[in-house]
Amino acid sequence: MQIQEAAQSLLHLFFPQTCAGCGSDAIDKEQLICLSCLQRLPVTDFLSHNENTTEKLLMGRFRFLHAASYLFYTHGSVIQRLIHQFKYKQRKDIGLFFGKKMGGAIQQSSRFKQIDALVPLPLHPRKEKQRHYNQAAILCEGISSELHLPILNKAVTRISASSSQTSRNRLARWQNIDGSFVLQDPDQLAGRHILLVDDVITTGATLEACSRELLKAPIASLSICTLACAMK
Ligand SMILES: [Zn+2]
Repeated sequence: MQIQEAAQSLLHLFFPQTCAGCGSDAIDKEQLICLSCLQRLPVTDFLSHNENTTEKLLMGRFRFLHAASYLFYTHGSVIQRLIHQFKYKQRKDIGLFFGKKMGGAIQQSSRFKQIDALVPLPLHPRKEKQRHYNQAAILCEGISSELHLPILNKAVTRISASSSQTSRNRLARWQNIDGSFVLQDPDQLAGRHILLVDDVITTGATLEACSRELLKAPIASLSICTLACAMK
């Protein structure tokens, strides 16, 4: 046995390579999840269909061109487990993996072809400090590695709901949004078709609040893509 191989099996003994979805160790070195989990990913067909569930949820609430989610999110599923590890267990690699998948799906969709730039939905600063990264920004990195689109991380920021008493913050509290959004750089967004990216959509209240702020800039159009949808 080569020294390298020996070192690798020793490494495997202490850090066994297991599927991030089901825990099975039947995966290749470079893989994140096993073939069985990969084949069972609950992929939606939303990217290629008008009036999909995500679009219907947001329709009439603000002006957007297209909206879609890549996966169905169900409680107790492999997806819940993967997203939990991505958000709370420092598993950035899971987000990059799914971001690439989203990028591939966007590339194949005629509806999302004309995107000019990506905007990750900003995380509350306190949460970003706790988690060390914004999961939406990691998804954008994955998408961008496929589509080579710029990521506008500072176009819109999020501020604490308790930090001031403006009417916007009262609205945010009423809508149960932790923090509200502030447009920072309208020039960066001007004339572009922007794709706003987030991890999971449930009520859409946070995406709506962020979109309303983005729409104050003279953008060409706004589309939405989330990794998963958790609506009933
Ligand atoms: Zn698995």
